[in-house]
Amino acid sequence: MSEYTSLGFIGLGAMGKPMAEQLATKLPSTTKITVYDVIEGAITELAEKYPGKVVAGSSPRDVTENSQLIFSMVPEGAHVRSVYLDEKTGVCSTDLGVRILVDCSTIDTATSLAVKDHVKIYHPKASFYDAPVSGGVIGAENGSIAFFLGCAETDPNLDRLTKLLDLMGKQVIPCGQPSLGLSAKLCNNYLSGLIAIANSEALIMGMKAGLNPRVLSSVFGAGTAQNTICDKFNPCPGVAPTAPSTNGYKGGFKVQLMKKDFSLAVDLAKQQGIDLVLGAQGLKTYENASNDPKCRDLDSRVVFRHLGGDEDWATKFN
Ligand code: NAD
Repeated sequence: MSEYTSLGFIGLGAMGKPMAEQLATKLPSTTKITVYDVIEGAITELAEKYPGKVVAGSSPRDVTENSQLIFSMVPEGAHVRSVYLDEKTGVCSTDLGVRILVDCSTIDTATSLAVKDHVKIYHPKASFYDAPVSGGVIGAENGSIAFFLGCAETDPNLDRLTKLLDLMGKQVIPCGQPSLGLSAKLCNNYLSGLIAIANSEALIMGMKAGLNPRVLSSVFGAGTAQNTICDKFNPCPGVAPTAPSTNGYKGGFKVQLMKKDFSLAVDLAKQQGIDLVLGAQGLKTYENASNDPKCRDLDSRVVFRHLGGDEDWATKFN
């Protein structure tokens, strides 16, 4: 069990709220969790649901002053800067001592390293980690997400961090050094985003040629094209029973988030001097799908719909 008696959680959205709830339900009542979000309702909802255990914070600074270790889960780099570096209300505006700061947001590596450097210079005894996650909202609700930690396997805080992260997820992978958790996450989403486009195109092509998408997906599953997007998140509705597509593309990973992560991945490649063969096409596809009123706010595998996939196929095969 965790050695901490006071934790902080900043950012209580689609991911942060269920993650904070995992901590609230699994940690003993002697551990207090101080929470903060710019949306006040998100704070009061949790504080009222877990009275005495979850405490309402008034700013990232207030959360920090009441916590030994702080998690953050906000949308983009600009939000992370504001949470940590705001001169009056930020996490770093107070004396950090030996506190541990863990940012789980998916953001650009430059912002994460800038916060890490700031902590190192002004609060040398404190530690800052990038720890982006994979597994989506359902994974956060089930406590089955994976954490990609920006640290070495020999990091002195790894054991105590893993004990806490295990309460919210099922896997913790130390990726080597600061910001490499983020690099790993961006590489993962680049690959996963491209696989979703490739599945959609191959399905659309086969269906136009007369193939039942269920049969075609079984072929992919039996052959060298086998992949998790096809098996569990099939972009064509009605093929995989639990896929967001089968539920009207609801409840998955929003197409705008995929566009954000894909764009960050393409930037990462540019910084490394890599000319991606599929990067520009993939990015354009997710930008267009994000702006498509038929796709916006839906699961990113809605790219099948955006590319003209036939969602009424079942009537033709019955
Ligand atoms: P979200 O928009 O649902 O939640 C973000 C929360 O942060 C909101 O409640 C917002 O009010 C709060 N916030 C914004 N600025 C703040 C600030 N300055 N101080 C305090 N709170 C602030 O987003 P989400 O889906 O929870 O995603 C959060 C991060 O996790 C993103 O970087 C996203 O890419 C990543 N992620 C999301 C998923 C997913 O399936 N949703 C999966 C893996 C990773």
